[in-house]
Amino acid sequence: MQRFANKTAVVTGGGRGIGQEIARALAAEGAKVAVVSRSESSCGKAAEEINVQYPGSATAYAVDVADHAAVQELANRITTELGPVNILVNNAGVTRDGLLMRMKEDDWDTVLDTNLKGAFNTVKAFMRVIMKAEDARIINIASVIGLIGNAGQTNYSASKAGLIGFTKAVARELAGRAVTCNAVAPGFITTDMTDELPQSVKDAVISKIPLGSFGNTKDIAEAVVFLASPAARYITGQVLAVDGGMTM
Ligand code: NDP
Repeated sequence: MQRFANKTAVVTGGGRGIGQEIARALAAEGAKVAVVSRSESSCGKAAEEINVQYPGSATAYAVDVADHAAVQELANRITTELGPVNILVNNAGVTRDGLLMRMKEDDWDTVLDTNLKGAFNTVKAFMRVIMKAEDARIINIASVIGLIGNAGQTNYSASKAGLIGFTKAVARELAGRAVTCNAVAPGFITTDMTDELPQSVKDAVISKIPLGSFGNTKDIAEAVVFLASPAARYITGQVLAVDGGMTM
């Protein structure tokens, strides 16, 4: 049985990596999915690939999630074109790593604007529709770095810790409307984002992961599908670490 037949989902950062896998997994269960990313080519290609497997399930939308007005416009477009949204996955994220001593103001602003304000923008924009939807879910992709911090990632850690606080506050605000809001905190997952890391850093990280390897995008998509499903109806305000045991 398809768990998301007649459901509409929005996945930001759906153009690549974890977001594309989440979009694919929701489409596999019958959802109509808005695949949102910064560049037209990225979300276009991702939606095309998903439609090869699940015809007609994915539609691409290019937007910068940090742009408040553009996100509001996008929400209106998606609601008109795909129908009321039941599932919102805030996955768009960036890194601009560097020690605090050398970090530029722009590195701080870009990361906070995308990773944290981006989620504020989308939740605000889709809120009215989501509050009326059946089995409505908001799922934010945080990071273990938002839980434990990391040298060289003060901006990223702050954005993801902020996203976790945001998740809990939204969960409390929307609980009365039966909307759940949870976060998934991935550990180290093989994607473009982690491909940038030098091998020495990867080896050092792996030595701290009890399950002994990086995770893959499917590991995260499975957790999101669970939280989006009816099986998770009584779970809200939680942070599910999918990290090979790194933060236990
Ligand atoms: P990738 O770098 O592979 O992909 C990021 C996606 O986000 C891309 O589709 C990109 O769009 C989109 N994006 C970035 N900035 C914006 C923006 N301003 N507006 C709209 N879309 C944007 O990342 P991952 O798949 O690795 O990571 C996905 C999420 O998971 C992020 O939030 C990340 O912080 C989190 N995470 C990842 C971990 C990992 O190990 N990979 C670990 C912990 C958390 P485009 O394709 O157009 O560039």
